[in-house]
Amino acid sequence: MRNRPAAEPPTPGRPPNVLRQGQRRCDNPACTNLLEWREQRGRPPRFCSDRCRQQASADLARLQDELERVRRLEAGDVTYRQRRRLNSQRVHIEWLLSAFPRSTTDT
Ligand SMILES: [Zn+2]
Repeated sequence: MRNRPAAEPPTPGRPPNVLRQGQRRCDNPACTNLLEWREQRGRPPRFCSDRCRQQASADLARLQDELERVRRLEAGDVTYRQRRRLNSQRVHIEWLLSAFPRSTTDT
């Protein structure tokens, strides 16, 4: 059996899963790309591409429509079982919506 190096101790003051300094995630919740900070004029980009910005905006609109639809159904005349299912759907949609940063709404 080969000798395996001991696991590296965690770097003090730097918890795991923290993005490298100067980087942040793209604002599209479905995207895992990182944005690099660059000195520049104007507002720094919050999405990795126009396509990502458009996709986030479309996904957000779709979820908001779906939330409205579920809320209308919930407010209507439904059985206890239907209400529980609708409530679960609404909580699911609200949970998905919570992943959208504010920049996806101010276009
Ligand atoms: Zn992106």
